Amino acid sequence: MRAGIYRGIRTLVIEDVPDPVAGQGDIVLDVAVCGICGSDLHSYTEGAWISDGMGMGHEFAGRVRAIGPGVDGLALGDAVTVNPFVPCGQCAQCLSGRTNLCADASASGGTAFAEQILIHDVEVGRRVFAIPEGVTLEEACLLEPLSVGMRAVALSGATAGQTVAVVGLGAIGQCVVQVLRAQGVTGIIAVDRSTMRLQRALESGASATVDGSNGNLTDELIALTHATVSPFQEASDVDVVIECAGAVGLLPAVLRATKAGGSVVFVGLFSRPVEIDINTVVQKELRLCGSFAYTVADVKNAFELIATGRVDMASLITHRRPLDELGAAFDDQLDGESSIKVVVGPGS
Ligand SMILES: [Zn+2]
Ligand SMILES: [Zn+2]
Repeated sequence: MRAGIYRGIRTLVIEDVPDPVAGQGDIVLDVAVCGICGSDLHSYTEGAWISDGMGMGHEFAGRVRAIGPGVDGLALGDAVTVNPFVPCGQCAQCLSGRTNLCADASASGGTAFAEQILIHDVEVGRRVFAIPEGVTLEEACLLEPLSVGMRAVALSGATAGQTVAVVGLGAIGQCVVQVLRAQGVTGIIAVDRSTMRLQRALESGASATVDGSNGNLTDELIALTHATVSPFQEASDVDVVIECAGAVGLLPAVLRATKAGGSVVFVGLFSRPVEIDINTVVQKELRLCGSFAYTVADVKNAFELIATGRVDMASLITHRRPLDELGAAFDDQLDGESSIKVVVGPGS
């Protein structure tokens, strides 16, 4: 089969590799579509988490091509999507339910920029999800970023009557907006520099947008909500900020804008350490919280939203490329002005 192989910074080569074979507990999929993740971009441009000869791609859907011994509940040709994150299930974090923080997780599903992919530890409804009638494989391939959004919203504690600002409207930020809407939150302020991304968020149910490049985020959020005052500081009436951009320059404004008693959830990775004014955190009793990947429960909840049509993942796909144009697809995804999610398929 053909597969995209990493051969150095910004170099992905389509090569012939042996077809995978399904062993005990495995299936092989014909990959229909695979999305490009932010982490894949870091691998592509910086060589992060990858070395020569490895593949990439963990946001995918496909059809069952082969079924190994010991796999129940699937038939050849079934359309499925996959939870690529495989926790050990035995360590203290797994046993406490934080399977995303597993001490011994393997991401064995990460080579789907290829015609076929081998999936280990197949368990339907946990590791592999059967795509129902009426849901396309393209929509279902966004299960993984939606799961990231699901976890961030859960950790934020946002409730229906609150106002939530979502900073950064790449695929994760857009998924956060859609999860908030699906959970009944109507006060959603979307922040990004890209007009196209802001427009997409509005169409997905955001109530207002702010251009994050114009340098006065706190004032804009105060104008959109109203000013609130804590013992020492003025803030906006935003209860929760979900930071999906790793926007170093916006962080002071984010902390200033968040209402006293509010929360800031960090989903985006920052490219460098940043200084923050801890007094702002203390005097407003802000809760700062990281959100990393997703648990098994988050994936199940995310799949439920896709399967029941309560989110519109197709609207996030801005570009489609065949596998032969994998490098060009990565370049499309790197253009944050015009892309949200780029998907690659063997023949798309
Ligand atoms: Zn991803
Ligand atoms: Zn574990």
